[in-house]
Formats: sequence, structure tokens, C-alpha cells
Amino acid sequence: MRWAFKTRDASPFACETCGDRDREARNCYNALDLSNDALAVSDYTDEVKAALSERNAKKVFTLGDMRLYECPLSYLSEDTRDIIQMVFLMDSTKRLLFSGEWGDQPAWLVEAYGIFLSESAAYIKEERD
Ligand SMILES: [Zn+2]
Repeated sequence: MRWAFKTRDASPFACETCGDRDREARNCYNALDLSNDALAVSDYTDEVKAALSERNAKKVFTLGDMRLYECPLSYLSEDTRDIIQMVFLMDSTKRLLFSGEWGDQPAWLVEAYGIFLSESAAYIKEERD
């Protein structure tokens, strides 16, 4: 997410920078072929736990209450655009994704929006300087 804002124009989301051993350990491009539930885990169901241990997958990254079992570079490149789109939409419409208040939003969304706010503040400051 953070990278996405920093690199909105240029896109260095490339696992070429991950070495061979990293690529294996980090499951770049989901080489282990995990299901979506097992790739970004918010809930360790028996099914998810079985899939992870069967493929010997290791946690790569934690974002709020979501745990990634894929290299964030390859994972985020596909989904960040959606998240960013949603955050921009929330910002321009001043509406939340889920009904209720901020406390009713999922932690990853709150975190994404928080990053958006601080990144855009930094961006505006940069523009001005
Ligand atoms: Zn990678």
C-alpha cells in the first residue's frame, strides 16, 4: 500500500528484485497455488490451516488483521489498485465502505485509509516545497 502511493506513476512492483531463495520463501506470484482464503488470511479455518501446512507455506507479511502468504510485491500489485480505488472513492464521496462508523470498518481498511491520509499529506507537502 505504502509502496503503491510512493510509486503510483512508476511501477516497480516486480519480483525480479526478489532473489531465487526469496521467491521460494515468499511465494512470489503464488507459486504454491494457494486459494485466496489461504493467500490472505483473516481467519484460520481448518481448511486454511490444512492448505498452508500441506504446502508448507510461511507467513510473509501482516497488514492489520490480514496475514499474507504471498510476496507482498506480487500480491499487492494485483489488488492494490482495487484498494486504492476504494480509498479514493471513500475520500471523494466521504462515505465509508461498510455501514456504520469507523469502528465498524475492517482493520485493513482503516489502516489503508490511514496510510492514504499520511501519504497524501506527505505528497501535498512535497508538491508545495
Ligand atoms: Zn516477490
